[in-house]
Amino acid sequence: MAHKKEKTFQFMIVGGGIAGVTCVEQLSSQIPSADIALITAGSHIKAVTNYKQVSKTLEEFDVEERPSSVLEARFPNLTVIHPAVKSLNTQSHTVETADGRVFGYEKLCICSGGRPKLLTQDNPYVLGIRDTDSAQAFQKQLSKAKRIVIVGNGGIALELVYEVEGCEVIWAVKDKAIGNTFFDAGAAQFLIPSLEADKPERAAPCRRPRYTTEEPAAGASQTFTAESGSALGPDWHEGIVLRGAETGFVARTHPLTVPFLFPFHALNFSSLPVGTWPVYILLTNGKTFGCDFVVSATGVVPNTEPFLHGNNFALADDAGLQVDDHMMTSEPDVYAAGDVCTACWEHSPLWQQMRLWTQARQMGWYAGRCMAAHVLSEPIELDFCFELFSHITKFFNYKVVLLGKFNAQGLGPNHELLVRCTKGQEYVKVVLSGGKMVGAVLIGETDLEETFENLMLNQMDLTQYGEELLNPNIDIEDYFD
Ligand code: FAD
Repeated sequence: MAHKKEKTFQFMIVGGGIAGVTCVEQLSSQIPSADIALITAGSHIKAVTNYKQVSKTLEEFDVEERPSSVLEARFPNLTVIHPAVKSLNTQSHTVETADGRVFGYEKLCICSGGRPKLLTQDNPYVLGIRDTDSAQAFQKQLSKAKRIVIVGNGGIALELVYEVEGCEVIWAVKDKAIGNTFFDAGAAQFLIPSLEADKPERAAPCRRPRYTTEEPAAGASQTFTAESGSALGPDWHEGIVLRGAETGFVARTHPLTVPFLFPFHALNFSSLPVGTWPVYILLTNGKTFGCDFVVSATGVVPNTEPFLHGNNFALADDAGLQVDDHMMTSEPDVYAAGDVCTACWEHSPLWQQMRLWTQARQMGWYAGRCMAAHVLSEPIELDFCFELFSHITKFFNYKVVLLGKFNAQGLGPNHELLVRCTKGQEYVKVVLSGGKMVGAVLIGETDLEETFENLMLNQMDLTQYGEELLNPNIDIEDYFD
């Protein structure tokens, strides 16, 4: 870093997604006099609105994309800096931005999120969806498409398969059941009929308004690439029409892995089906499908590159920055939160990290608290929100609540499942280990989340109740009150 340091901030946060913005909010409210910088690649930040604590650990909120100036107006001691961070020097406690400016920090929190794992890089027919810009690029291509292939089996793939209309969808999944990041085969079976059913009319307006990006001021440079925006949130497809060029809708599942992808000119033409699609995809069962484009929805890679060179960060197996129970990385005075980090403390038996919206908020909030506590020399303990994994979302228009080891993660054969299912209405699965409830999947309006959450947190021995636990004629809430 040859350039002269412009200024040193007491706290510096990198990334204007949910983790970074929540960290800024927490620090500003705890130490209002603190000099804080938020360095972010895009001109917009993500703000949590309508936050609601549903139960002890479950939370719900909306997300709005706002110009970063809104945050500066709220916090007079905050300076928002663009463009992105290009490099970090942890020894000199400085960062350099893409336009060559250098800033110092006393404490830094990296919240740079992740980017989609793509099946193949730089192929115009392979799209990843991460932010508003890439969602719009997808929508544009979809409007001309007759057939697309969706690869992946997580939340994004599930939502896409349900939301896309007017286009044939080939869904390539490597697992035996759909949605295996969140569900087991039973829950998948419960959800599949929704793919063929008519979708309910959507009356709700888009909850996350999109502000137009202002032109950069004359002379100012701006870096804003598809990869550098914040990740979209739970309602990312609301307000964008996901409609292809055809009428009608077909979803097909192929329980296969996808090792190869190549433009059609690279193939032996004699082996191809008649017709010319822009791209063909070969699945491991040997079948080839032509399509207009492929959506790669196979997870994210933590955005760590600008921070690694010349530093000594410990990285986890999933390439995230390792953080301890104070959200600290292996480098002094450097914290990390959200999708970019990997929680490497000893987890509570009922919690696991998943790169989700709620965890980005919780980690950003807790990182802010830890940074403040360290500066104020106050003790701080791991927050209660990391006691029990909990997540509320919607899939195929059903409310979905996931609690604890909802898919018996890490339990081996040492567990028992209880399932109650009413077709088209609800699916309830409970995971028991040693007679205690350790996880649950609740699909539909079950109203069981609070009671089950308590049973998990209390670790009450439920052996004597057996299958009665899910007896629909027993008011379980009353029962355990
Ligand atoms: P991000 O939101 O990715 O923010 C990272 C920020 O860092 C951005 O502002 C970016 O501009 C900035 N940045 C990156 N590099 C640099 C740099 N070098 N210098 C400066 N700034 C930088 N989660 C759910 O819980 N429920 C869902 O239903 C759900 N659906 C999703 C649907 C889609 C299509 C996607 C892509 C994700 C979805 N997620 C969902 C996941 C969720 O969006 C992420 O877990 C969450 O947004 C992560 O927040 P973050 O703040 O860590 O990172």
